[in-house]
Amino acid sequence: MKKDIQQGTKAVWAGEKEYLAHGATQVPVVLSVAYGYDDMDDWYNVAIGKKKGHIYGRNTNPTVQAFEDKVKVLEGAEAATSFSTGMAAISNTLATFLVPGDRIVSIKDTYGGTNKIFTEFLPRQQIEVVLCETGNHEQIETEVAKGCNILYLETPTNPTVKISDIERLAKAGHNAGALVVVDNTFATPINQNPLSLGVDLVIHSATKFLGGHADALGGVVCGREDLIEKIYHYREINGATMDPMAAYLMLRGMKTLHLRVRQQCKNAMELTNYLKTKEIVEGVYYPGLETHPLHEIAKKQMKDFGGMLSFSVKGGVDTVRHLLPKLQFANRAANLGAVETTVGPARTTSHVECTPEERAAMGIPEGLIRVSCGIEEIEDIIADFEQAFNYVRSALEV
Ligand SMILES: *Cc1c(COP(=O)(O)O)cnc(C)c1O
Repeated sequence: MKKDIQQGTKAVWAGEKEYLAHGATQVPVVLSVAYGYDDMDDWYNVAIGKKKGHIYGRNTNPTVQAFEDKVKVLEGAEAATSFSTGMAAISNTLATFLVPGDRIVSIKDTYGGTNKIFTEFLPRQQIEVVLCETGNHEQIETEVAKGCNILYLETPTNPTVKISDIERLAKAGHNAGALVVVDNTFATPINQNPLSLGVDLVIHSATKFLGGHADALGGVVCGREDLIEKIYHYREINGATMDPMAAYLMLRGMKTLHLRVRQQCKNAMELTNYLKTKEIVEGVYYPGLETHPLHEIAKKQMKDFGGMLSFSVKGGVDTVRHLLPKLQFANRAANLGAVETTVGPARTTSHVECTPEERAAMGIPEGLIRVSCGIEEIEDIIADFEQAFNYVRSALEV
């Protein structure tokens, strides 16, 4: 698809045509595990990758490929490969390239599961992991310059929406000969395209905004063809393959990605402005706030500031316990990026794997509430928060 086509048009059309069958206008869900061949030479040529086609579902599947193609076009990548979950995309990507003795530099605020890979699993394979203060670009540059095989970033981060300057850090990474990887889940390809800012690989938990309906798990990695081929090979052998039904739900969800994200960004900005006026709210974290310490970087590299925000409340966990059950139009759940507004404390969602001490070290207050804005009408969401705050004020006198 041509470069000057807008993202929203790509979200609807990209990646599908090649996979349509029998005149259908929608990509079919191909559940077949294996693909049969009468011609032994054909079979052989497909098997060794000399000819296009499918052999076995752990390797490739037409529905899954249509999903990969759509993401590839939206991220402006040469290639993409997909996974059963976002964490599989992350762990398989790291495992493809890291060997004992390597050094990986990242930030303290990565997604909780990613953080666990860094603190629990990589060190026991003799891989050195250095986690820098998120947003401290000088520290990251210094650590990268000391030697770095992979520079791993996530921006905005979960749950305090800190920002890393992708272009600046990609340069630092490449100067050190590192592979630069960005988890783009929070921004979505609608708001941010890290490949155009110089990184090598972009990862998404497709479970979140790409799918958008909290009904399918998936992950995807995009980038240069030679890199994606290596990651694909690791995944086809190790087996964290995306399910065809999940791929279909992702494809269907992504057709409205631009519309959903547009509304989610608008809702996030308006909810932020409302929360700022509430006395019970101690702090609001949203990269669209001009007072956000890394706002200027966000403005430079993002088209809009995303659907994720967080805020902390006076009275900590006790306030959270009273406030959240009162919300009528919000799921109290661990996911994000869905059409419904979703709320949860970091201690039970993004950073449930961490101890309170680890969370404190990451600057995540126990009374922090993460909000993934949905696509509802914002007036109703604000009214909902208003009545919940009123209830808490009378119940707890805070
Ligand atoms: C959810 C999430 C992941 C992990 O994705 P799963 O699909 O749950 O495995 C990784 N990174 C970020 C930023 C996420 O929000």
